Amino acid sequence: MAGFFKKLFNRVTNTADIDWDDLEAELIAGDLGVKLSLEIVDELRHLGRKVSADDVIKTARKHIADLFPEDRPPLSPKEGGPTVILVVGVNGVGKTTSCAKLGHLLQKQGYSVTMAAADTFRAAAVEQLVRWGERLNLPVIKGPLEADPSSVCYQAHQKAITDGSDFLLCDTAGRLHTRHNLMEELSKIKRTLGKQDQSAPHETLLVVDASTGGNALNQAKEFGKAVALDGLILTKMDGSGKGGIAAAIQKELNIPARFVGTGEEPDCFARFEKKNYVEEVL
Ligand code: GDP
Repeated sequence: MAGFFKKLFNRVTNTADIDWDDLEAELIAGDLGVKLSLEIVDELRHLGRKVSADDVIKTARKHIADLFPEDRPPLSPKEGGPTVILVVGVNGVGKTTSCAKLGHLLQKQGYSVTMAAADTFRAAAVEQLVRWGERLNLPVIKGPLEADPSSVCYQAHQKAITDGSDFLLCDTAGRLHTRHNLMEELSKIKRTLGKQDQSAPHETLLVVDASTGGNALNQAKEFGKAVALDGLILTKMDGSGKGGIAAAIQKELNIPARFVGTGEEPDCFARFEKKNYVEEVL
C-alpha cells in the first residue's frame, strides 16, 4: 500500500491539474472500493482550491481512519467452555495457515487451543493442519477422509470441552461451488456446534487474500449471505496486496478486519490495529 500511495503522490505532484477520473481510478485500483474512492474524490473536489498530493493522502487517510470502528479487545476465553471460532474462506486464501497462526497467537498469550480439521474435502488441508499442530504443539482433531465436516467439528468441540480448552478453532471447507451448498454446510456446522453449547460458534472469521483485490470483496459478499461474519483475517499483506481491500469491505459490508497475516511463518500474524493500518500500511 505504501507503494500505492507513492504512486498516487507522484501522480498528483507531477500534474498541473488533477484529472479527477484518473485519481478515482487510481484509488479504486488501490482496492479501496468504489464507494470510498468516490467519497474521497468528492471531498477533494470541494476543497475549493488547488489540491496538493498531501491533500490527497491526508483526505484518503482521514476517510479510512473514520471508517474503521475502534479496535476490538484481544480475543479472550469465555467462562464455562471453549470459545468456538469458525474460520471460513475459499481455497488458497491462507485459511488453514491462518487457523494455525491464530492458534499459535492464542497459545503464546497463555491460552489452551484445540483445532478441528474440518476442511475434509481437501485431504491436503487436513494433513496440513495436522502438521501445523505437531509443529506448534496444538492438538488437532480430524476425521476420516471426506468425513462430514460437522461431525469433525462436533468431535473436536467435545474434546475441547473435556480437555477444558480455552479456544476451539474450526478450519472449515472452502470449496463449495454454490451458495446453497455453502449455506447448508455452514448452517449444519453451526447447528452441530450449538448442540454442546447453544451460544457456539462465538466468532466467524472470513479469511481473504489481500492480493486478490476486488475478488475478496465478492467473497465477503457471498460468505456474508451464507453466514454472519464477525471479522476478517487479511492474509498475504507481505505480498503485492494492497490492504485497501479491508477498507472497501468495512465500507461496503461493515465487516471489520481483525487479524493480519504477513508471511508463511507462524509468527507472521497479528491483531489488526487501525492506527498501524492507517499510518504504516497505508
Ligand atoms: P487455504 O487453501 O485457504 O487453506 O490456504 P493455505 O493455508 O493452504 O495457504 C495457501 C498458501 O498461502 C500457502 O502456501 C501458505 O503458506 C500461503 N500463505 C498463507 N498466509 C500467508 C501470508 O500471510 N503471507 C504469505 N506470503 N503467504 C501466506
